[in-house]
Amino acid sequence: MSGIVYLIGAGPGDPGLLTVRAKELIETCEVIVYDYLANKKFLEYARADAEIIYVGKKGGDHTLTQEKINELIVNIARDGKNVARLKGGDPYVFGRGGEEAEELVEAGIKFEVVPGVTAGVAAAAYAGIPITHRSATSTMAFITGHEDPTKDKSSIAWDKIATGVGTIVFYMGVKNLPYITKKLMENGRNGDTPVAIVRWGTRPNQQTWTGTLETISEIAKKENIKAPSLIIVGEVVSLRNKLNWFEQKPLFGKKIIVTRARAQASAFLNRLEELGASTVEFPTIETVDPESWDSFDKAVDNAGSYDWMIFTSVNGVSQMLKRLKETRRDIRELAGPKICAIGKKTAETLETLGIKVSLVPDEFRAEGILKSIGDVDGLKIVIPRAEEAREILPKVLAEKGAKVDVVTTYRTIRPSGLKEDLLKMIRDGEIDMVTFTSSSTVSNFVSMFEKSEFAEIKGKIKVASIGPITTETAKKFGFIIDAEPEEFTIDGLLESIVEFYSDGRKK
Ligand code: SAH
Repeated sequence: MSGIVYLIGAGPGDPGLLTVRAKELIETCEVIVYDYLANKKFLEYARADAEIIYVGKKGGDHTLTQEKINELIVNIARDGKNVARLKGGDPYVFGRGGEEAEELVEAGIKFEVVPGVTAGVAAAAYAGIPITHRSATSTMAFITGHEDPTKDKSSIAWDKIATGVGTIVFYMGVKNLPYITKKLMENGRNGDTPVAIVRWGTRPNQQTWTGTLETISEIAKKENIKAPSLIIVGEVVSLRNKLNWFEQKPLFGKKIIVTRARAQASAFLNRLEELGASTVEFPTIETVDPESWDSFDKAVDNAGSYDWMIFTSVNGVSQMLKRLKETRRDIRELAGPKICAIGKKTAETLETLGIKVSLVPDEFRAEGILKSIGDVDGLKIVIPRAEEAREILPKVLAEKGAKVDVVTTYRTIRPSGLKEDLLKMIRDGEIDMVTFTSSSTVSNFVSMFEKSEFAEIKGKIKVASIGPITTETAKKFGFIIDAEPEEFTIDGLLESIVEFYSDGRKK
């Protein structure tokens, strides 16, 4: 049986503009095939074991040709797998979704289409432009601006479009802007007609420029405006002066670094983005596999011989699951020991896997845990956890007569991959602020750079710190603190950042 291919519109970029149906399919399909314009964030919804394939398609440099993409999708479906084929905006609006669908029909593969929010509608709305308005226009057209200007005969009826349509929205048109504006004016559209260009619409890095048919080409050249941009021509563009809501958000246009560990960062990132900021995730700690899985694998072999299995973190649980899957084992092989979870989150994670947690100690310290477990003399206990975790828990248990096996399921490391990119962005003045949520985020951040690099970037970015202890550490490294809340919470931190930027003098 062949799989089903879902041609899915991933919307214009703002993650909130993905449809419910699209999300459902990303969560369940075995394979995700996505291209340049589809927001990478959506990949987080994918199943842990999903295969994720990037097929590119940015302007001219196609990672895979359309033919190869079609072939790839057909082959995966023939393998019996369901495919979520993510395309920016709507799959049938200048997305070559129609061609992919035809190919699937010819190959005898079932397909479904999930329409998406197309950029022409969404980027305009986020730029403060309603593409229709009773007082301004009753017609609109979506046009590809990609046409080769040297072509003898245009497939666009410029004479009809120029004056026959109120709002004209061009996709893929920035390169051809001088040609487009010329054609419209030649065919009778007034040179005073307002025009807007929206780049990366609906994203935190959205940029909008306005002018008229006469002036916009010059503006685009001067500002070096690039794809992906949408060109909107028509009287409705003037409404932007009144209706520009998105770019008015308190942190709009600010680029802010978030230094928390990846798993914890997303809520904070989302809040910053809701306030209009664009964010750069710079996790200073990352979870990776242990050097060797031997001790864990052996513990699973002998699971039945243990009295207790103690999980000390969510990471410990998810890494265990990952390893069991990798080795094609089954969670039922852990039968035998009672399960103890340190922390509510750890317990919840275990229970979502269908594992009954017998004990969640009220206290996290070793003595507290020991008290909750009770007499451990002669018991066999296994603790799957981080390689570099502190020795205190196993030691306390062993002192009371337990036989303790500590098995490693992960290590935490300092990721370095992003450093070069970040350094470049700071040097180019693209980063506005760095946020620190603990002393260790400060020292990890600093330690990632060479001394000379750090000296260079230190003065180039504003700094937000969550509270006095973090601030003290930051000051020791020579940072000047620009925002610090009175209440030492993430909410407080966000508020202090907004306050900092709303105070005009400090911008
Ligand atoms: N299927 C897509 C369009 C693909 S064609 C859709 O329905 O939106 C690619 C062109 O779409 C880009 O060159 C640009 O003109 C436009 N585009 C896509 N996303 C955009 C965005 N976020 N902001 C501005 N233009 C965008």
